[in-house]
Amino acid sequence: MRLIFLGPPGAGKGTQAVFVKKTYGLAHISTGDILRAQVKQETELGKTAKGYMDAGKLVPDDVIIGMIRERLGEEDCAKGFILDGFPRTVPQAVALAELLKSMGRHLTAVICFDAADDLLVERLSGRRTCRNCGAIYNVSFHPPEKENVCDACGGPLMQRDDDREDVIRNRLRVYKEQTAPLIEYYEREGLLRRFDAGGAPDSLVALVAELAGKDDA
Ligand code: AMP
Repeated sequence: MRLIFLGPPGAGKGTQAVFVKKTYGLAHISTGDILRAQVKQETELGKTAKGYMDAGKLVPDDVIIGMIRERLGEEDCAKGFILDGFPRTVPQAVALAELLKSMGRHLTAVICFDAADDLLVERLSGRRTCRNCGAIYNVSFHPPEKENVCDACGGPLMQRDDDREDVIRNRLRVYKEQTAPLIEYYEREGLLRRFDAGGAPDSLVALVAELAGKDDA
């Protein structure tokens, strides 16, 4: 299966991707995670990306497309993948289509995560991530047993630099302006499926199982 998880920041794409990845043995490709790793390692790419990320703006398309081209060529993508946070603009979607065509592959579906703005702000401002293993918590909805300590590995929890209220509002604005047009783009391609990200995750589990059943890879 080759899936795109499309939706605003805070809709739970990363959290759900972890479950789907484990169940179906897919590669989970989060462009945000790749960029944060580059920032941490202080690479040239990381230095370029940091200013955009801290302001809640999108990193330029050519940087992101080059990154994805390299990542999709890696071995763990052969069984399929979940793209989480990519594409985020129409030019990125067009570049992805060309890239997959050149690889003789196609997308299985694009799952659009729907959620109201208030819920997204609450989720993002309460989000905490483990500095060691990347596990995701939320101070209101999914707190760790011990404050600021990861249940899974005991690592310290941190708040992402861009999960602060002013940056969150900007990220949501950027989503509406630059990424939401992809909903129509993929609807026209006949690939779009919707998931109510404010409700229980069971319907996503059922949807992915249905897609897996039909997938002719
Ligand atoms: P995320 O973890 O997906 O919320 O991404 C965090 C930040 O990384 C975004 O606010 C952007 O600055 C940058 N980013 C991640 N994915 C992309 C993308 N596909 N295109 C442009 N910028 C991206």
